[in-house]
Amino acid sequence: MIYLDYAATTPVSQHVLSEDQQFNKHYFANPNSVHALGLEALQIALDTSQKILSNLGLKDYEVVYTSGATESNNLALKGVCLSRKGGHIVTTPFEHGSITATLNYLASLGYVVDVVDIDKDGLVDLDNLRALVNEDTVLVSIGLVNSELGVVQNLQEIKTCLEPFPGVVFHSDMTQAIGKLEIDDDMVDLISLSGHKIYGYKGIGALLVKSGLKLSPLIHGGHSLSNIRSGTPPLSLIYSLGVAIDDAYRQLSDHNLKVFHLKSYLINLIKSYDYLVLNSPDYSVPHIVNISMLGYVGADIQKFLSDNQVYVSTTSACSSGAKSSRVVKVLTGDDLRANGAIRISLSHLTTTKELDKLVDLLEVYHESR
Ligand code: PMP
Repeated sequence: MIYLDYAATTPVSQHVLSEDQQFNKHYFANPNSVHALGLEALQIALDTSQKILSNLGLKDYEVVYTSGATESNNLALKGVCLSRKGGHIVTTPFEHGSITATLNYLASLGYVVDVVDIDKDGLVDLDNLRALVNEDTVLVSIGLVNSELGVVQNLQEIKTCLEPFPGVVFHSDMTQAIGKLEIDDDMVDLISLSGHKIYGYKGIGALLVKSGLKLSPLIHGGHSLSNIRSGTPPLSLIYSLGVAIDDAYRQLSDHNLKVFHLKSYLINLIKSYDYLVLNSPDYSVPHIVNISMLGYVGADIQKFLSDNQVYVSTTSACSSGAKSSRVVKVLTGDDLRANGAIRISLSHLTTTKELDKLVDLLEVYHESR
């Protein structure tokens, strides 16, 4: 089989698996217990949080462990809005379903949600952002890397636009960015991330919270590792997340170089076919290559590839079932491209042979129609 859907999820790495197995042989105590075994477990969780922050180059943040980025996004958006005055939120049309659905919920409670314009490169239109943010704005949520196209936003410039309104909380869903990009310190107040996008386990993620920032919890139950999220901390998942992040940042430049070459290879391949067009703009991570097969339906292509043991996505895994790509339509304004879009997501594990096979199959599909 050929797996080209690494933005949907990644296989757990051998290193994470073996570290986790060793870890579980030795540690099982509840980090909330106050006896010596509990304190030892607590120390492991605290050390893991430090390791995560130092890998990301972040100084002044609390790591709040969650079940994944969906929960982190829910906690960030509801946690900010429900703990502050102000009824206005700004976001982009490129956000993941766990952001848009949560914002729809907040809109149903009376919040006004504005969606900022995107320019022809997929970047946030800063003039439009400046025009939207006002005294009533409580939250701005802008993902660093879009999961369908791979567009990387310039959060530093966005932050500068927010400076006249110091009360605004700036959240970024970095689920597709962590492990692929270096993160600047102090750029945003809240960061969402997930373990299973970086060769760790499903069911563990984190919300990184700027120290001192007030958030309403979603899950009440008294103090745990954090006041913001209760429940017995899943210690081995937490430890494994630390291993996955450590591995990702140790190998970041090697892996990025490899994936960058794979992306160039794929783009060169698709140039030979006039029915294939590239949707991912220049400012994109190399891991995500969104293309359209003009005149075809993404879901049909995906099924054909899947029947041939090649696995890609049409939209993001969480909005699969959608008929066409909303994000590609926003970027290109072109229904043909939105309908025929497929997302190919690459890894350091990908080979050029796999990409050859993918493009050969697309040609077979085209010839057979
Ligand atoms: N945000 C983005 C950008 C994602 O790509 C995903 C995963 N598809 C999520 C959030 C949700 O992450 P999780 O599966 O950990 O809940």
